[in-house]
Amino acid sequence: QKNNPVSKEGTIMSMIQVEEALDTILSKIKFKGVEKVPLGQALGRVLAEDVVSRVNNPPLDNSAMDGYALIAEDIQSATPENPVKLDVVEEIAAGYTAKGVLKPGQAMRIMTGAPIPSGANAVLMQEDTQKDSNAILCLDKADVDENIRMAGEDVKIGEEVIKKGTTLSPAHIGMMAVVGRSQIAVGQRPIVSILSTGDEILELDETPEGPQIFNSNGHMLAAQIKSAGGIPVYLGIAKDTEKDLMEKFESALKADVVVSSGGVSVGDYDLVKSSLQKMGQDMLFWKVAMKPGKPLAFGRIGDTPIFGLPGNPVSSFVSFEQFVRPSLRKTMGCSDLSHKTVQAKLTRTIHKKPGRLHFLSSIVSWADGEYTVTPAGEQGSGILKSAANANGLLIFPLEAEEIKQGQEVAVQLLG
Ligand code: AMP
Ligand code: MG
Repeated sequence: QKNNPVSKEGTIMSMIQVEEALDTILSKIKFKGVEKVPLGQALGRVLAEDVVSRVNNPPLDNSAMDGYALIAEDIQSATPENPVKLDVVEEIAAGYTAKGVLKPGQAMRIMTGAPIPSGANAVLMQEDTQKDSNAILCLDKADVDENIRMAGEDVKIGEEVIKKGTTLSPAHIGMMAVVGRSQIAVGQRPIVSILSTGDEILELDETPEGPQIFNSNGHMLAAQIKSAGGIPVYLGIAKDTEKDLMEKFESALKADVVVSSGGVSVGDYDLVKSSLQKMGQDMLFWKVAMKPGKPLAFGRIGDTPIFGLPGNPVSSFVSFEQFVRPSLRKTMGCSDLSHKTVQAKLTRTIHKKPGRLHFLSSIVSWADGEYTVTPAGEQGSGILKSAANANGLLIFPLEAEEIKQGQEVAVQLLG
């Protein structure tokens, strides 16, 4: 806190950098707790245990093909012109085991997934054989172990298959089914209340007149919270009075995390700061050296973290992605808190003033073995259209003034 003095009036005294703000915020965010869910509800949740296999997969050596189990040495000379004839002595379907032991000169018809009979050491695929009443003609040779999937080649007993902290994808769900897990320990989802502020802001079913606008931030934040794994609770719009703000913030505190938008700047009606300061002790108000999204309030009232995001829609959006999403991930025990970042080649030269890190709503694509990135149109803090067309945030570093076409830049991948 020593770096971020706040005057008695709650005015912002210093400018801090994005990483410092994020580190300070994350140091105050706690893991919410563990709950058990059925596998069918685990998609997108954060694993709260290391998943260890109690089975071998596959359980036994089995066939990777429909064909014939045999002894590779028996058919070393086989060609289409000089096939080798083997007696077919048994048929093994998936889920069954052979009754007998395979002997030299014999083959067993075998289906994909069926266990390799003892005595056999290869499977010749059906396409390389011809039926000849109770025998087959092998038209090709086979190597030892050909078309055999070994027991445990996917997973072995005791092997760790998914790490704690992983956000579960469809393939992870499949993997848990492979090892027979029907109940999974995951991080609890945080309940996040959303408060929009501003006398000019209307609900979507109202009719704007003159300077009035719809509450876009409230709905966008709800979607961001949901996509981060949180449970959004929409608390509507507070008027620009300390009384209304304090009342609404008071009810917002029932949640695990509170997010507001607007009212944190230096305007005469930016009363979020003073209201929060009257309610809690460790509220910090920062100018973060970033664009969009300079003003930011963060702190806790009791145990509840509160984020006062700026009101301009792109500022609110980007500030959420930089500070709130990583925090929500931390409450769920996620091991990757920040967005995945890639290096991408810039398609046109860009400029800015030094002193703030800029996030440019951008379009990233992958072609010919590399990422390229193009800013998605005009970049104003009120131009949400560009963010809506973007799939990444280009990071234009703090002190940089120009990045030339063809240079590599870091881009955060959204979604
Ligand atoms: P403020 O930070 O309250 O000064 O707001 C900055 C700008 O963002 C103003 O133009 C506001 O009208 C706009 N704004 C604030 N809250 C919202 C919201 N919930 N939805 C859309 N625009 C907003
Ligand atoms: Mg306002």
